[in-house]
Amino acid sequence: MYVGGSKLATAVVRADGRVLGRGRVEVLRTEDPESFFSALLTCARTAMAVADVTYADLAGVGCGCGGPMIWPEGVVSPLNIPAWRDFPLRARLTEEFGRLPVAVHNDAVALVVGEHWLGSAAGYQNVLGLTVSTGVGGGLVLDGRLFHGSTGNAGHIGHMTVEPGGPVCGCGARGCLEAIASGPNAVRRALVDGWSPPLGMDADGRTLVQTALNGNRIAMRALDHAGSAVGTALASCASLLDLQIVTVAGGFSLAGELFWDALRRSFAENSAFPFAHELRIVHSNEPREIAVLGAAAFILATDRYGWLDRAW
Ligand SMILES: [Zn+2]
Repeated sequence: MYVGGSKLATAVVRADGRVLGRGRVEVLRTEDPESFFSALLTCARTAMAVADVTYADLAGVGCGCGGPMIWPEGVVSPLNIPAWRDFPLRARLTEEFGRLPVAVHNDAVALVVGEHWLGSAAGYQNVLGLTVSTGVGGGLVLDGRLFHGSTGNAGHIGHMTVEPGGPVCGCGARGCLEAIASGPNAVRRALVDGWSPPLGMDADGRTLVQTALNGNRIAMRALDHAGSAVGTALASCASLLDLQIVTVAGGFSLAGELFWDALRRSFAENSAFPFAHELRIVHSNEPREIAVLGAAAFILATDRYGWLDRAW
């Protein structure tokens, strides 16, 4: 399962990674936690109906969900889903699925696991999966295994400082990568600099990308600024972790060279070691589908990505 800010996606996945059935629904705007939960269950049942399986056929339920969350308990308060505040997602899924194993982790963690299991980072040992979207999130696979950190919060690249004293971030600190490079924050900066969306279009990241691609100078500068901040953060990550590959997902990664040139330039300027120059930085294809696979891998490939049997 994948619970994102704008879509819910589910899949029934075999141990070899083959998808037997999928479900997908747009996120409904509701304040009611129960309506949101039933939408997720309906989405799961759709995938199960397509795959022609029942609860008894399942090995467990893996879920990637927006944070913050208490982990491994899976009590979630996704920033983009106001209906869920301290919602006991893991406990509710356990109840619903007849006490099958249920594993809930951050959506960015599900994405890096999917990329490492069957995506563009397959075969690599040290991977950072990065998402630049409404927020900036990340997950880490180190020495071939999902890296959780002490409280499940490892990989929060969005809150690395890239501009000391810079804009205030949603987390309360200043100059975080997310405060500069996330869609809403890049848009805010562009608006201050005099950008405005064309008539009838929203002032959002998608419109910012579109106007930049059409040659709007302020929008181009905003994307350059965002890409450059991401490159700076990645240079620090490369030095700290000796990574082999970074996968980048999110709307700005579709902005072509405007974003990528700035990212690569700033990465090169800020990473001096030859080993860091070997790092591959690639676009993440179909991140939502990959994150659904990653969530399944929490259950199906526990040797590398599982944690339910671990003592904490
Ligand atoms: Zn922050």
